[in-house]
Amino acid sequence: MRKKVVAGNWKMNMTPSDGAKFAAELAPKLNTDNAEAVFCVPYTDIAAVAEAIKETNVGLGAQNLHYEDKGAFTGEITAAMLMELGVRYVIIGHSERREYYAETDEAVNKKLKKALEAGLTPIVCVGESLIQREQNITADWLRMQVRIAFLGIPAEAVPKTVIAYEPIWAIGTGKVATNEQAQEACAVIRQLLTELYGKETAEATRILYGGSVNADNAKALFAMDDIDGGLVGGASIKPEFEKIVNGY
Ligand code: PEP
Repeated sequence: MRKKVVAGNWKMNMTPSDGAKFAAELAPKLNTDNAEAVFCVPYTDIAAVAEAIKETNVGLGAQNLHYEDKGAFTGEITAAMLMELGVRYVIIGHSERREYYAETDEAVNKKLKKALEAGLTPIVCVGESLIQREQNITADWLRMQVRIAFLGIPAEAVPKTVIAYEPIWAIGTGKVATNEQAQEACAVIRQLLTELYGKETAEATRILYGGSVNADNAKALFAMDDIDGGLVGGASIKPEFEKIVNGY
């Protein structure tokens, strides 16, 4: 039985004081019995939010990390820096990072290895553009992205990862995938994991849907066979995040 995960991606929103206030109000209301709830916050908010949620079971996540341990990488953050502040989850390969910061599948693979080595739970994002969906290559595209992301990752590490299927056309657009489209894509990913690692590993790995999830659509999406929760952007910095986490 896979425990659901509902991770909020705050993106570049909220100062440390705003984030701490929001987190302190929301975190105690989240029921973490059925789902792991996670706040993936900006780097500058990590310490303040860690303090705000320390008496709760809500997990703390970052939105990126670097794949090296140290060095001349101005503006970057290592896995060890995150771990020391209490971060336990990290988003890797979000489509906004792929698009605006030219993050490649190879970089995603290196970051995934580094996150696992450090003991972080990686939330690896994959997803097709609208053109790719229209060209009918969604399944091929997802298979390629997941294959490259997981190159060299051994089977025993795979259930420690979380994969987020996020169709780019649904992110921040208010245009949500249908339950069937989301299920179909998540099933493609699970099928690939079965081919690469075997059924047991594939069945033990959480696959999320992300893209305009809100309090009205979350329950039905998360009820689909291969959807084990969600990666939530816009609605994660609103009080409705409570309903998304607690709603089933
Ligand atoms: C995201 O940031 O991963 C996301 C899915 O955003 P939104 O929920 O706003 O579409």
